[in-house]
Amino acid sequence: MKIFRGTPVSPGIAEGSIYLYQAFSCDVFESYVAEGREQQAFEEYQSAVRAADAELVAIINSFAETDADKAKIFSAHREILDDEEIADEIRMAILDESKSADFAVDSVYTAFATLLAKAGDALIAARAADIRDVRNRVVRILHGETEKNLSRLGAPAIVVAHDLLPSDTATLDKKNVLAIITEVGGTTSHSAILARSYGIPAVLGVPDATNALPDGSFAAVDAMTGEVFLEPDESSLELLHEKKEAFAADKQDAARYLAAEGRLADGTRIEIGLNIGSTDDTGALRNCDFVGLFRTEFLYMQTETLPNEEEQFDAYRRVLVDAAGKPVTLRTLDIGGDKTLPGLPMPHEENPFLGNRALRLCLTHKELFYTQLRAALRASVYGNLWLMFPMVGTLDDIRAAKAAVREAQLQLEERGIPFDPKVRVGIMIEIPSIAMIADRAAQECDFASVGTNDLCQYLHAADRMNPQTEVYYQSLSPAMFRTLKMIFEAFTAAGKPVSVCGELAGNPLAAPALAGLGLRKFSMNASAVAPVKRALSHATLEQCRKLAELVCAQDTEADVKALLSKPFMK
Ligand code: PEP
Ligand code: MG
Repeated sequence: MKIFRGTPVSPGIAEGSIYLYQAFSCDVFESYVAEGREQQAFEEYQSAVRAADAELVAIINSFAETDADKAKIFSAHREILDDEEIADEIRMAILDESKSADFAVDSVYTAFATLLAKAGDALIAARAADIRDVRNRVVRILHGETEKNLSRLGAPAIVVAHDLLPSDTATLDKKNVLAIITEVGGTTSHSAILARSYGIPAVLGVPDATNALPDGSFAAVDAMTGEVFLEPDESSLELLHEKKEAFAADKQDAARYLAAEGRLADGTRIEIGLNIGSTDDTGALRNCDFVGLFRTEFLYMQTETLPNEEEQFDAYRRVLVDAAGKPVTLRTLDIGGDKTLPGLPMPHEENPFLGNRALRLCLTHKELFYTQLRAALRASVYGNLWLMFPMVGTLDDIRAAKAAVREAQLQLEERGIPFDPKVRVGIMIEIPSIAMIADRAAQECDFASVGTNDLCQYLHAADRMNPQTEVYYQSLSPAMFRTLKMIFEAFTAAGKPVSVCGELAGNPLAAPALAGLGLRKFSMNASAVAPVKRALSHATLEQCRKLAELVCAQDTEADVKALLSKPFMK
């Protein structure tokens, strides 16, 4: 047995075989076969095509009943594989020009894809992505590698990867993922947030995990302590089974609070919001008062091309209809940092978290922004829409964002399309510069929600993705609580709603102190709703206020943690 350690970011215990995920990179070099070997190379190519076709048939069959749309995509891949023009060019490249099979496949497919990508039409460009997919499949087979794909694991497994991109996690074969282990990523990286919202145990920042944990080996994961046991012995497994039972029992206990209204022990009402990342996440809303954060970027990450206005309108309308009148806080595109879009290539930046991300990016890509705003405004007539901008740093940002909303409204008016003119417009507070002038910001917008994940990284100058800076990323520091106090007071004084939608709001330990600082609206992942309601129900407003005062007067995060762990905080 060997034990490895990382940061536990999503609680739970799991055991099973390891699925080592390494995204295939299509590395092909210019190479030629020796004279007289062309026919052999051509036969290698033909056999790879047959194997690729067999893979595609298996995939199509696996999706046939569950997901007809995905099955269609792979049927289109079979057609590409069968394309006579492409096949002819590859045959000539091998037989007449003596190119090696992989080099011929790579050059012909890439040339076709590049040609299509240049067409400038979104539908045709999507076809280019499909061509590259088929190219990768054939080259991978020629290189003797098996397929690694997180959206189709086939059997339950513990996924081990260097890193999981938010797009990988968004398309994850959730029912088969027992746990996630990565070498990089912190507590509030987006992979961690998604793992928590799906209730998948996760340990991130395990050094050298992809080398130390071999594919197919048996492991157990303790995502409370951050320990990973490779080939665990009997006694360790027994202990883990006991812990698993205790974890399940605690979850069951918390579940008793799930359907209740959010209230402190003395009856003070606390509104509980839900964070969602897709149109499928609204089920848990039955136990919540509002959607406090709809991360729209995950919609953009699931396809190779940017969703158009109709597609977005459809998705937003669905969420608003499902919410049945409860407020839905739709956050406009928050791309950059650890989130990139396949359909929007962005130039390299030395410090992407400090760069052209989120609202900044939308203000420099106005058409992208208007498209989303028009789609959201059109959907607004189907429910109670609140629009929210991420990464606001100055009043200039607020004014520019509001001007963009007005422009989108004008564009709809010109087209004679109805929208709700009373849609509320608010900001995320996640940059210290806007927190410092929260009183002024409150005059310029209808509401605010604090993004503590980013606020913490910018306040402490500690990268939320980097396991090395995890000790500096102190979401329970006195500095965080004092900053929050200032924000809550400013918005409350202005009579404007303020919530927290960062991960801190879903932390049951922190919840009573936040209530004591004046917070009445918490928004969190579905899995945090019951434990947070339970924690709030155990403390009176007076206790919360005293606790908040004490928390703000502490020296260090460790002191705060000690205070928050006091018995009535359970
Ligand atoms: C935050 O920063 O706290 C937040 C909610 O936004 P995200 O995690 O998507 O950056
Ligand atoms: Mg953020």
